[in-house]
Amino acid sequence: MTEVASLPGQQTPEGVRLAAFPPPERWDDWAEFDPQAWPRRVLRRYQLVPTICFNCEAACGLLAYVDKETFQVKKLEGNPAHPGSRGRNCAKGPATLSQVNDPERILYPLRRAGRRGEGKWVRVTWDEVLEDIASRMRELLRSGRHTEIIYHVGRPGHDGYMERVLQSWGVDGHNSHTNVCSSAARAGYAFWMGYDRPSPDHANARVILLLSSHLETGHYFNPHAQRIMEAKERGAKLIVVDSRLSNTASKADYWLAPWPGSEAAILLAIASYLIQSGRYDREFVRRWVNWDEYLRSEHPEDPLTFEAFEGRLKEFYKSYTFEFAEKESGVPAGLIREVAEVVAGCDGRLSTHIWRNAAAGNLGGWMVARCLFFLNVLTGSIGRPGGVSANAWDKWVARPFKVPPPQQIWNGLLWPREYPLAFFEMSYLLPHFLKEGRGQVSVYFFRVYNPVWTNPDGLSWVEVLRDESKFGLVVALTPTWSETAWFADYILPMGHGTERHDLMSQETHAGTWVGFRQPVRRVALAKAGRRVNFTYEVNPGEVWEEDEFWIELSWRIDPDGSLGIRQYYESPYRPGQKITVDEYYRWIFENSIPGLPEAAAREGLTPLEYMRKYGAFLIRTGPNPEFLESPPPEELVGAEIDPETGIVYSRIPPKPGPNIVPRPAFLPDERGRRPVGVEVDGQIYRGFPTPSRKLEFYSTTLRDWGWPEYACPTYVKSHVHPENLGPDEFVLMPNFRLPTLIHTRSANAKWLVELSHRNPLWVNPEDARRLGIKTGDLVKVHTEIGYFVLRVWVTEGIRPGVVGCSHHIGRWRLDPEVGTNKIASALVDLEELGPGRWRLRQREGVRPFRSEDPDTGLIWWEDAGVNQNLAFPVQPDPVSGQHCWHQKVRLERAGPDDRYGDIVVDTNRAMEVYRRWLNLARPARGSLRRPYWLLRPYRPAPEAYRMPSGG
Ligand code: SF4
Repeated sequence: MTEVASLPGQQTPEGVRLAAFPPPERWDDWAEFDPQAWPRRVLRRYQLVPTICFNCEAACGLLAYVDKETFQVKKLEGNPAHPGSRGRNCAKGPATLSQVNDPERILYPLRRAGRRGEGKWVRVTWDEVLEDIASRMRELLRSGRHTEIIYHVGRPGHDGYMERVLQSWGVDGHNSHTNVCSSAARAGYAFWMGYDRPSPDHANARVILLLSSHLETGHYFNPHAQRIMEAKERGAKLIVVDSRLSNTASKADYWLAPWPGSEAAILLAIASYLIQSGRYDREFVRRWVNWDEYLRSEHPEDPLTFEAFEGRLKEFYKSYTFEFAEKESGVPAGLIREVAEVVAGCDGRLSTHIWRNAAAGNLGGWMVARCLFFLNVLTGSIGRPGGVSANAWDKWVARPFKVPPPQQIWNGLLWPREYPLAFFEMSYLLPHFLKEGRGQVSVYFFRVYNPVWTNPDGLSWVEVLRDESKFGLVVALTPTWSETAWFADYILPMGHGTERHDLMSQETHAGTWVGFRQPVRRVALAKAGRRVNFTYEVNPGEVWEEDEFWIELSWRIDPDGSLGIRQYYESPYRPGQKITVDEYYRWIFENSIPGLPEAAAREGLTPLEYMRKYGAFLIRTGPNPEFLESPPPEELVGAEIDPETGIVYSRIPPKPGPNIVPRPAFLPDERGRRPVGVEVDGQIYRGFPTPSRKLEFYSTTLRDWGWPEYACPTYVKSHVHPENLGPDEFVLMPNFRLPTLIHTRSANAKWLVELSHRNPLWVNPEDARRLGIKTGDLVKVHTEIGYFVLRVWVTEGIRPGVVGCSHHIGRWRLDPEVGTNKIASALVDLEELGPGRWRLRQREGVRPFRSEDPDTGLIWWEDAGVNQNLAFPVQPDPVSGQHCWHQKVRLERAGPDDRYGDIVVDTNRAMEVYRRWLNLARPARGSLRRPYWLLRPYRPAPEAYRMPSGG
């Protein structure tokens, strides 16, 4: 520490202007004044270590300022060397520091002492934990009970690592949160192009059409938001479709606030306008849409010409007028016409996005995404500057050494017969399946996930978690307490974003990069000459990182290698020895990231040293339309071209690609033929990984798997369509994010909780007047399975007939001292009033308390919000499997016995609602459980797709 007399204003002691980032060449020894010592000028020296934020899926770069005297992290700022975030972050990035320093975090492994959920815990050693779990798993694997091991993850935070672990065990146990998040959007994109995510090039767009809130919260929002603003500065028009006035809508040139669920009517009216007026990219549609398949299947009497298709197209969409869209949505026809005109003028530069929003809210929400992408297809805005690409063209999932073969089994608890087209596992129906006796779970890991609080019908989760015949061993891998961790058998503390390794690549823009999350103290200490063998040696308490946990656990499951597991955890550099995490990433960086070894060599670094230094590597920039590439010449030797479809089949067996996630393009079809391309106008291209190798306006998959009425983009009436509402019912939109919180993971960030800790019910003034309620009043919101009580916020920001409530807030704990962070949770009583009848009642809200962080004594807020999801039944969309979040609700003024935060639920009724929605499903009836071409993460072997005899 040095005290300095004076320095020129606006400059750091290093002479760099405050507006600039510290240049990487000075990251090893950066000096700046200690702001807490002000007005004295006290100089501190830092090692700046890059890592990756773990607070949302965007994977922005962070730069940790590690004090060179204490090796404590002093602050986190943006990493200018990160190609996605370019040095910028949202509030949640720097707030990682408050999560690291959370005085309530779990520092030691704990084992349940009393009954499950009783809240009694004892501290145990890691050795005991690992031996117990490993021996149970060994027994399950030896006795062929592979389907009883499930790993349930919310935010994975890594690319490929866990899939490799699970495949090394030979289980089909990956369970995600996708079905409460993005299944619908994924399905909408995948039925078009095979890939399930868009990668919009907002920065170069002329027109940006969002069914999302990307300027504040949407998917990859910080990297997207900065590029949307750049496009706006250059004159791009921003159109936002959202029933709620989001911050994004407030920045739009056109804000359309439709009735929830009617969005597809607006999109189809725009599509129809392009079609009827001929203002679409005819050449793109002729070349790249499977119009011939549509004609052959639906109009075999027509000549097989593009002109005949155009005639049919006009006919098909002529009823989707602006007036029809107005009738469905309530948005004036004139405004929709104006927006259609803007879209028509996009000149192939239309960037669009939907992820949760209307897709996740509605029955048929996947069709909203399908209709949105229809506009990209019609305008030819695909794979072009300013258009939309497939995620896989802009994402690089590196291949680790020695990849295990695909698992030979199929887990029907996660992939049930009723939902053959689901994206992906039917994770939120697990309690209902267990109650129906479909199976049992003997070892259940969950991490970065909190199903009791996050999922709909959380009290059904409580019921099955308490039942040891349904869940044998429950293991929570978590840095912090949660409502679900309370019902675990083991709580195993894992590191935050600055305390772990992960590799990430996200499709944030037109370009491809990989980012390296790393334990920053470990890196700084190693640079200072200290030998660190394991990350837990430098993490607080006995906090581990998961990479090292899975290596150790897998090794112990198969110590002698007889189960075939151990081989995947042996070092590629030291045969027969257990791999280290350094070696795992060293191998990837040396062998699996194009251009990285050369870039490192130019700086005299090894590839691992390069990634430790910069934390990210840019592979390429600009649109990368892989569908226009030619297949490799060797694939075409002796290849056959189907004369009817133009599909090119290779005779060469597939080689493992550079990516661990097998792209559908490399998969053989159900007849064992391997399509590698498609002939268009006499030339062979890779095309799209769909059955036709083209963009599928007409989906033979939907036709053949029970949904012929949805084979083309069309309008599906939502379960909250006005026809389906009672006279006094409202639509509740419960699925919007707040900019400063992230699902279940920010309750341990004091800076974020201080900013956001209430989730009032948004009510339009017209409705408030009619109901005689005003801001601050308590109302009872009745759902199909119960009710919850919260306060009203009267606002013009939501349309009449619709109410809204953010899903981030409403954390609770059952014990005054232990459980979900006290800065964010209410202390509650959870009572079982009768079989299946539950009441959660708040005893007290947030209070100041004493801890090693003096700030907890300064807490000024009391509100912890209301956990509305507990009162929602499951509502699985029969096609995509998405939980349809929007609710039909009744509002009632709270009575004298009602208290703020009361939640009353009947789980018997919840089972009835589950069965009603289950009846909408159309189960697989053929020989396969799922179309083989359709994406499935962590794909099993082809034989596992075969339906067992008897279904
Ligand atoms: S958008 Fe915010 S929370 Fe998400 S990764 Fe970036 S900085 Fe972190």
